Amino acid sequence: MTTPTSQNVAVLRCADCGQLDAGPRDLCPKCFGRLEPTLVPGDGTLVSWTMIRRPPAAFRAEGAYAVALVALDAGCQITGRLANPDDNATPGKRVVATALKDSVTIFTAL
Ligand SMILES: [Zn+2]
Repeated sequence: MTTPTSQNVAVLRCADCGQLDAGPRDLCPKCFGRLEPTLVPGDGTLVSWTMIRRPPAAFRAEGAYAVALVALDAGCQITGRLANPDDNATPGKRVVATALKDSVTIFTAL
């Protein structure tokens, strides 16, 4: 198996203190500075994930999917989807962002 290539992930960075935040929000929760869009590497570790077996109406056609919380190496946590949810995807597992679909980051566990 080849290792998937990591894509950058869109997050917010405080213009004053540099704090990263997944958003959406306008002000830095640490110093109330202005948050601006930025890109960071999509490498991180899996915090947790859960399977959505009864999707809301907007996603019903896609069937079941996995939502994941990922701690990016860059320094903030974001949610996304997990492309390969299985018994191998345990907390602390390395993940990479491998796609962006409808503004949702898709992560793949390595
Ligand atoms: Zn700040």
